[in-house]
Amino acid sequence: MNTHHSDILILGTGPAGYTASIYAARANRNTTIISGTQPGGQLSITTDVENYPGFANTIQGPWLMEQMQQQAANVGVQIISDHINSVSLQNDNTRSCTGDSGTQYHAKTLIIATGAQAKWLGLPSETKFQGHGVSACATCDGFFFRNQEVAVIGGGNTAAEEALFLTNFASKVHLVHRRDTMRAEKILQNRLLQNEKITPHWNHTLAEIIGTDNPLGVTHVRLNSTVGGEDKTVAVNGVFIAIGHSPATRLFKNKIKMDPHGYIITKPDSTQTEIPGVFAAGDVTDAVFRQAVTAAGMGCMAALEAEKYLSRNE
Ligand code: NDP
Repeated sequence: MNTHHSDILILGTGPAGYTASIYAARANRNTTIISGTQPGGQLSITTDVENYPGFANTIQGPWLMEQMQQQAANVGVQIISDHINSVSLQNDNTRSCTGDSGTQYHAKTLIIATGAQAKWLGLPSETKFQGHGVSACATCDGFFFRNQEVAVIGGGNTAAEEALFLTNFASKVHLVHRRDTMRAEKILQNRLLQNEKITPHWNHTLAEIIGTDNPLGVTHVRLNSTVGGEDKTVAVNGVFIAIGHSPATRLFKNKIKMDPHGYIITKPDSTQTEIPGVFAAGDVTDAVFRQAVTAAGMGCMAALEAEKYLSRNE
């Protein structure tokens, strides 16, 4: 069996993972980063990015991730493509991860930056228009829908926040929820219901997104009643799916403390998990902000904390 040793092992190649790796390698630590099934993370499947600081003009998500990868390689990070299928975290001196390749990765510290994924409804039309009118992030894409009508699907905190945020740009926001009560916090519900720009469509699900092929773009949504009522077609240019996120933490189940939604719990103002020497950064530990720049910030924190941990234990 192949074994691989490093000071700092990082799982996940989104902004959190790459930023952690750049800081760790520049602290002169032997640093390895493992990219899993989606190298580059969520940004690798987005298109226009206008809110990552440092770029005056619109950039593309995949290009940004290529730049991060190149920057990590330039400062000496070992970038390995493998899918980790088991982890052992308890030994204070060595954390071990086993890859599908059969390689065992040993490290003194581990940074978990495996990210999260937006949940999608699974409609073929949703896939077709993703990045062309269909999004799972209003903060990222709301700006593209100035003075246009949009739909938000879901009834939780994310849906409520996205709908409210979108009223800053859109002329009208159609909130589509499959029941007639929301699970979002009451204060958000009140704000939402009082906002004249938001029209709720209770007891409806999104059945189909309709649009043009050339150029690809959304023109309508077809909504089906969940209570045998009237189906409707509503004219919108954007559709925001806000039915929750899944953090990529299956690998760590029963091995590290998580909240009820599966996000890894870290100490306040820190990326330190309950296990000394094991850190978590980015969307895998963040159900609230979920931005590339906040993930990158947490990656930096994790590398600085890992470096401190190594110095203390040498
Ligand atoms: P939630 O799981 O809370 O809500 C998901 C919503 O999507 C529910 O209303 C659900 O409907 C609906 N939904 C799920 N699947 C489908 C489907 N297939 N078709 C139609 N509708 C569907 O996810 P959130 O992302 O809103 O929140 C996750 C966690 O993060 C929560 O704990 C939340 O409080 C927290 N959060 C906190 C924020 C903050 O503090 N500022 C901001 C955002 C999230 P139904 O209600 O019928 O099940």
